[in-house]
Amino acid sequence: MQHTRTTVLLIDATRPELATIEHAAALLRAGELVIFPTETVYGLGADALQPQAVQRIFTAKERALSDPLIVHVANEGALEALVTNVPAQVRQLTRAFWPGPLTLVLPASSRVPKLVTAGLDTVAVRMPRHPVALALIQAAGVPIAAPSANRFMHVSPTTAQHAVADLDGRVPLVLDAGPCAVGVESTVLDLCSEAPTILRPGGVSLEALRSVLPDVQAAHKSSSLEEGQKSPGQLLVHYAPTVPAFLFDGPAEAMRKAMLAETQRRRARGEYVGVLIADEDVPAFHSSGAHVYTLGSTLEQVAARLFAGLRVLEETGVHVILCRGFERRGLGLAIQDRLLKASGGNVIHL
Ligand code: AMP
Ligand code: MG
Repeated sequence: MQHTRTTVLLIDATRPELATIEHAAALLRAGELVIFPTETVYGLGADALQPQAVQRIFTAKERALSDPLIVHVANEGALEALVTNVPAQVRQLTRAFWPGPLTLVLPASSRVPKLVTAGLDTVAVRMPRHPVALALIQAAGVPIAAPSANRFMHVSPTTAQHAVADLDGRVPLVLDAGPCAVGVESTVLDLCSEAPTILRPGGVSLEALRSVLPDVQAAHKSSSLEEGQKSPGQLLVHYAPTVPAFLFDGPAEAMRKAMLAETQRRRARGEYVGVLIADEDVPAFHSSGAHVYTLGSTLEQVAARLFAGLRVLEETGVHVILCRGFERRGLGLAIQDRLLKASGGNVIHL
C-alpha cells in the first residue's frame, strides 16, 4: 500500500479550533481520509458521496467490501438527501437521541454510492454529538462515511494513539481530542423491518429506546461467519484482540474464583496471563501474578475503558486475556456483545 505521511493535530474537544477544522474539512472535500473523534470511538472519515474517497476507507482498513459504512451527518435535515422515506418513528428517535450514539438504518436514496451500503438498499445514518465531529461534518458540507478507525477485525480505537497504531502511514490526518467518552460504538437500529430491531447494541440502551418506541426488538445473537447476515457488524469475531481471549460469565464470586483458578493453571504452564476485571475484583487478584487491567465500577466506566484495556493487555505481550462478564442492562448489553466478539465465542458459563 502507498505510504502517506500521517500528521496528528491536537484539537480542543469542546471548542475545536476553526483553522484545524477547516484544514481537515478541505482534505475531506478533496477526497482524502481524516481520522476524527466521536463520542463513541474514533472514525475514519471520507466524503460519503465520492466513491473514490469511500474506496480509500476500505483500502486503508483492509475492510471487506461486504461490510457497509455508517454515514455521519451534522443535522437532521441532511437525512432527506440520503434516504427515500423518513418513517414516522424517525422524528421521535432523533428528538430523543440525536445528536448521539444511535444509528438508524433507512431506505437509501440513489445518491448514496453502492460502496457505502455494500450494495444493500438501505443506508445507516447517525448524527454524532462530539463537538469536533459535528464541526468537521458541518465544515466539509457533505455527509461523512466513517467506520471505526482500526484495521478490519481489530479492536475499535478510543484514542487517537489507538487509531495511529493501526493506520499510521495510510491516512494523511488524525484529529486528536483525547479519549472518547462513551467508548463503545453506536446502537444500530433497523427501521426497515416490521418492528424496529437493534442490529448492534451500543451507546443508546434498549431500555432508553423502548421508552420512546415500546416495540423495539432486542439484538439477535451474533451469527457465525458462514451465516447470511442482516448486519455484517454482527460477525462473531469482529472486535478481536491479537491474543486469545476467554469470557467468564456468571455470578461475580463464581467468575472471580474461576478466573483465579484459570490464571493459576496457566501460570503453572509458564503462561503470562492478562485479566480484564472490575474494581470490586481487584483485591482477589492482588497476588495472582496476572497482569491486571481494571475497567472501573460503573457500566459507563467499563464501556469507556473496555477497548483500551484489550489493547493494553495485548501490548504487554500476555499469552491470553481472561475477561469477566457484566450484567445485561443499560450499556451492559453492548459491553457483553463486544466481550463475546473479543473472545470469539470462547465463553465459560458459570
Ligand atoms: P463500524 O464499522 O464500526 O462503523 O460499524 C458499522 C456498523 O453498521 C456495522 O455493524 C454494519 O454492519 C452496520 N451497518 C451499516 N450500514 C448498514 C445497513 N445498511 N444495514 C444494516 N447494518 C448496517
Ligand atoms: Mg468497526
